[in-house]
Amino acid sequence: MNFKKTLMLCLMLMVAGTVSAQNTTTSKINKDSLPSDAIIVKRVPLESGQAFDVKDVLVVDTIPSTSEGLSIVLYNDNTWRYVRNRDIDVLDETIYTQNWDTSKIHAYNVELKDLPMSMVIDLVDTLKSYHCPIKGRVTSKYGPRRRGIHQGTDIDLETGDPIYATFDGRVRHTTYVARGYGNLIIIRHDNGLETFYAHLSEVNVKPGDWVTAGQVIGKGGNTGRSTGSHLHYEIRYKGHSFDPERLIDFTTGTLRRETFLLKRTYYSPYSRFTQDFDEEIQSDEEDKKIAAEAAAIKYHIVKSGDTLGRIAINNHTTVTKLCQLNGLKKTSTLRIGQRIRVR
Ligand SMILES: [Zn+2]
Repeated sequence: MNFKKTLMLCLMLMVAGTVSAQNTTTSKINKDSLPSDAIIVKRVPLESGQAFDVKDVLVVDTIPSTSEGLSIVLYNDNTWRYVRNRDIDVLDETIYTQNWDTSKIHAYNVELKDLPMSMVIDLVDTLKSYHCPIKGRVTSKYGPRRRGIHQGTDIDLETGDPIYATFDGRVRHTTYVARGYGNLIIIRHDNGLETFYAHLSEVNVKPGDWVTAGQVIGKGGNTGRSTGSHLHYEIRYKGHSFDPERLIDFTTGTLRRETFLLKRTYYSPYSRFTQDFDEEIQSDEEDKKIAAEAAAIKYHIVKSGDTLGRIAINNHTTVTKLCQLNGLKKTSTLRIGQRIRVR
């Protein structure tokens, strides 16, 4: 199949996907109606659906994609998802090598002043999906509490309830802290964030395991310093926590946004997510300005296995646009380490 045809198919499927996704929260596809070498572009599920709860579904087929590092896995409930071959493909390999310490809770030693004033984080895209860790009532918010600072959000649950990985990633550390977290799982994600799941009654993963969003990693409980079954859930960037409710509405299980502007001010324990609309509008305008500046120019460094098509998909652009920006032909050979302007 020549490249142009591949690209056309890809675009057609993207359009088809946009239409069908309006009516359904899970992506359904009939494999037989597609050419064997079709590229499927996944719709991002923002709802906390069961589509990626791999526990209850069986894999019926795995289809290679045009990229060696990616396969398409079909499940017996007609859902599907992209699965990365982690031996070949890691989006930004430094995420899983730098400060990668499986032996302790805190792997980073980065001072607050050394973190950027604000940074844009793509939480989900065609290759990164989301699942709510557990849906439920928030019983304790992030921030100052009694004698100390509450570094996370507490969500009510029954002991034994399944706990899901929030995003794709790799388990960095698991431990038991009698006077604190109890059974704890820490996962580092492709988007650079780490999530903490505490007071678990059961841990089903170990350090080094790759996990996908929606995979059951353990069961909720009441271990450690805890009164009553609940999930203590933290989100951290380079060791610094911020209010998880900024990203997740735990009552509905939905992710509030696909792209998140993480500001340094959010690491303050006094900075909580607010539903104050005036403040939100003002903050949104400020966010848009900063995001627009950050988005103005963006580069990608070519790594092994990259193709123009792949780089285009990952950066929400087209091959034609990439060629224009970089003075390339669609047939140009990419060099590893080459800098490609994507925006
Ligand atoms: Zn807590």
